[in-house]
Amino acid sequence: MAQIGICIACETPNVRVATATAECACQVCEHCAELFMQDGVCGVCGAALSTDDLVEEDGDDAATCP
Ligand SMILES: [Zn+2]
Ligand SMILES: [Zn+2]
Repeated sequence: MAQIGICIACETPNVRVATATAECACQVCEHCAELFMQDGVCGVCGAALSTDDLVEEDGDDAATCP
């Protein structure tokens, strides 16, 4: 779930942050999360990302088919 906090990647305060991936616990803003998704790796800890892990809206665990 998204929450308001500090993005640990770009250190912007008071932004909506969430874990970039279930593979790690890094709380980043949507902008950084998108960048990480493009790279396929968490820019903070280096964990590999699943391309369909992050949903911008509150989709919870709803599976999305490409
Ligand atoms: Zn950020
Ligand atoms: Zn990470």
